[in-house]
Amino acid sequence: MRRKFVAGNWKMNTLAGSATALAKGLAEGVLTTESVDVAVFPPLPYLAAVSATVAGSGVRVGAQNVYHEKPGAFTGEVSVEMLLDVGCQWVLVGHSERRHLVGECNSLVNRKLIQACERGLSVILCVGETLLERQSHQTEMVLNSQMAGSLLGVDAALMPKIVIAYEPVWAIGTGVNATPDQAESAHHHLRTWLAGRYNRMVSESTRILYGGSVKANNAKELLSLSNVDGVLVGGASLEVEGFSKIIQAARDVSR
Ligand code: PEP
Repeated sequence: MRRKFVAGNWKMNTLAGSATALAKGLAEGVLTTESVDVAVFPPLPYLAAVSATVAGSGVRVGAQNVYHEKPGAFTGEVSVEMLLDVGCQWVLVGHSERRHLVGECNSLVNRKLIQACERGLSVILCVGETLLERQSHQTEMVLNSQMAGSLLGVDAALMPKIVIAYEPVWAIGTGVNATPDQAESAHHHLRTWLAGRYNRMVSESTRILYGGSVKANNAKELLSLSNVDGVLVGGASLEVEGFSKIIQAARDVSR
């Protein structure tokens, strides 16, 4: 059985005080003996402080971005080694805000993913279609192309380090989430894609998270879907109470 995973992407929010307060609040409620995986993705400047705050709890820490080169002359960038050094186990790649606001393409996402996995981080690879693409019935084609491009040259042996997040762009930060049917159908499509590209074992063992306006009041319905193995939460992960309720929903459906 795939273990449920609840991930909180804090995006460009919090300051030092609020980041550690949020981390402390979460760490108090998430034990090391959890039946679900929980990770938070704070802004880069607060990674070390958040890692120290959640140490000894069941909360893991990840970064929202990484550079694909080894340490060197890359002004403004952050290496895999630096992220490991400040306590990260995870990194997000291919988030729609980086694809659409910063212009990251599949080939850059692919380089980041490979370097991160090969040098010690686990990766959440985000994929998802825009509203226009969905309306023009291109969802599956877009997912195929993002998966193929982002996982180019990635062997099955690396797949245990990779989690996929299906995040329809039109659902991120909009308050509109995919219906259970839309989410289940996209997740089923991604799982079938994994079986075709790799094999049945990879398809059945790779976790696929849903992201896009997940809140305490809709998490349980989404987490109950057979191909939804967790959630990637943006806005609702910035508050201890709301995020804790989402974690509880994942525990409930894991029983
Ligand atoms: C996200 O940032 O990945 C996300 C899903 O955001 P939100 O939950 O705010 O839609």
